[in-house]
Amino acid sequence: MCLMKLQKSEIEEIKQCIEQHQIFAITTHANPDGDAVGSSLALSALLRSLGKQTCIIMPNDCPDFLKWLVGYDSILLFDKQPQKASEFFHKADVIFCLDYNDLERIEEMGAVINKTKKPLFLIDHHPCPICNATYMVSETSACSTAELVYRIIVDCGFESKITKEIAEALYTGIITDTGGLVHNSTNPEVYQIIAKLLSAGIDKDFIHEQIFNVFSFERLQLMGVVLKDNFVFFPEYNAAYMFITCKNQKDFNFQLGDSEGLVNLPLSVKNITFCALFTEYPNAVTKVSFRSKGSFPANVFAKEFFNGGGHLNAAGGRLPCSLQEAFAVFVKGLEAYKKMLVL
Ligand code: 5GP
Ligand code: MN
Repeated sequence: MCLMKLQKSEIEEIKQCIEQHQIFAITTHANPDGDAVGSSLALSALLRSLGKQTCIIMPNDCPDFLKWLVGYDSILLFDKQPQKASEFFHKADVIFCLDYNDLERIEEMGAVINKTKKPLFLIDHHPCPICNATYMVSETSACSTAELVYRIIVDCGFESKITKEIAEALYTGIITDTGGLVHNSTNPEVYQIIAKLLSAGIDKDFIHEQIFNVFSFERLQLMGVVLKDNFVFFPEYNAAYMFITCKNQKDFNFQLGDSEGLVNLPLSVKNITFCALFTEYPNAVTKVSFRSKGSFPANVFAKEFFNGGGHLNAAGGRLPCSLQEAFAVFVKGLEAYKKMLVL
């Protein structure tokens, strides 16, 4: 795997950007995950330690299992406080875009940011950054945006500013985006970074406990029902899908983050190389998460059939249709991609 190294000129540009500006807005994608929140909090804390003013603005809230992170309380949610968020965007000198490659991923917030005409600074590991950014650190070989933030901090000479809180936020980003260092984590440098974060004083066991072992009893029951009743296997395509209906959500007191990890489970079945998890929303909207093994491009499939995108092996999208209609689109897609699925 290629190792990302910032060019000298890039480092100078980033340092100048930080030196010459005072107020930074830090944004990340809708339905923020551990990498989105972790990388944002780490960057914000670093900039504050340099005497800068920052505000993290997310389109909506993250799951409860990330709310223990230091600094979470000062994050502004665009869906709750659009006016305050908009005022900060207008006041900011630079707007950071973390962990997303397209303003569509931040929903209505994208139009507000566009209007400000402020310089954008993209830090991301998704393919095809189409964001019209003035500054850009875009590297698909990175396991997470947190890894990129770490590299920027170190390459710019701020390593001594990495506090325990910054290290915790970066570690959270790395372990959540790699599924606990299971996928996307073959690059030895990832472990060198983790060694540095451990040296900065993080309590790895505490972090794992906060992230992976804080769910409700109902959440496990919901998983049981989905695996038993809402799981469809297509041996002829080496693929499968699962689904969560609105009724399932009501029956099991569904909370944000409760479906975390579920989408990966079909890949543990021998021969399943591609799977989807459909989630039903009110007003005929269906969201879908995709996972694949090997070279099957979940992101290309998501883009072609579900207005989505993402990484090679982890992608997502949505359609304005019922669950049943979404299943039909998925099966049509499987047929179209049969040659790649059945090698
Ligand atoms: P998850 O299944 O964990 O929600 O998402 C996996 C990955 O798919 C994310 O990291 C993101 O890159 C991508 N993704 C999820 N939903 C969407 C979407 O609606 N549009 C696009 N472009 N990418 C998505
Ligand atoms: Mn990420």
